[in-house]
Amino acid sequence: MSDSYPIVIRRHADMRQRILASQAAGERVGFVPTMGSLHAGHASLAQRAAADCTAVAVSIFVNPTQFGPHEDFDRYPRDLDADCQVLAQHGVRWVFAPEVTEMYPAHHATRVVVGGPAEPFEGQLRPGHFAGVATVVCRLFQAVPADAAYFGAKDWQQSLVIKQMVHDLALPIEVLVCPTVRESDGLALSSRNAYLSSAERHRATALAAALKQAEQDWLRGASIPDIEQAMATRLTAASITVDYAAVVAADTLMPLSPADQTTPAIALVAGQIGTTRLIDNLPLPPRTLPSC
Ligand code: AMP
Repeated sequence: MSDSYPIVIRRHADMRQRILASQAAGERVGFVPTMGSLHAGHASLAQRAAADCTAVAVSIFVNPTQFGPHEDFDRYPRDLDADCQVLAQHGVRWVFAPEVTEMYPAHHATRVVVGGPAEPFEGQLRPGHFAGVATVVCRLFQAVPADAAYFGAKDWQQSLVIKQMVHDLALPIEVLVCPTVRESDGLALSSRNAYLSSAERHRATALAAALKQAEQDWLRGASIPDIEQAMATRLTAASITVDYAAVVAADTLMPLSPADQTTPAIALVAGQIGTTRLIDNLPLPPRTLPSC
């Protein structure tokens, strides 16, 4: 593993040319798109990319188009040097850190709007969010035409949206989804955890606890409405305003029929703690219900 500071690239054309040159020299390039404020969850993606590939690029771009008008774009934490120090420890060769005008040139007028998995949950609660995500990731894939891109299961719905886009637009990149990295008390690492007061940080453990409880209830055969209700109750007891607490099909986010025992399921939660909105999820293991 190289311990050297990554090369920071600001220009789309420069980045693209370097990736193509590296591939022409026989390298396999991995790519990790991020918004910076890097933590061990992001680092795990860089590590996985470095294990699979000979060269790794990470993008750091706080994408304005995926934030709603009253969301946290302005206060989102930014520290490029600290992020590069983290990435230097994980063998990352290039950091693509464009300005907003580089990603969204004057008079740009194209958006990538994904349907299907982009529609429920975050899609309903954050109108335009996934169009912002898909548009920027599509453009990032042009700047960084890597062989494989690495995303976190932490943002499960986002990973489905990206896979859908890559499939529908036949983008020549493999999408890999890596496990969620958590604190020892279960809280999923997130750049937004930095907003939490210590009391809120304590209450935030209810998200992972609710998901673990859902997993146990699921395995003992509880009904989906009962599991969803128990998750919501647990979040509310921690003074978390619940946006959703749901069990759905993992690959489509569609409702599951009560008798369905074969479709992989996932529990999803989202809620507001003070001024901070957090999301989390847990893929559920297969279960066998007693036949009547
Ligand atoms: P972000 O910087 O929040 O846009 O996230 C960049 C990538 O890191 C996305 O693919 C996220 O899903 C992933 N990520 C964020 N938090 C975690 C985590 N706790 N574990 C694993 N991956 C994560």
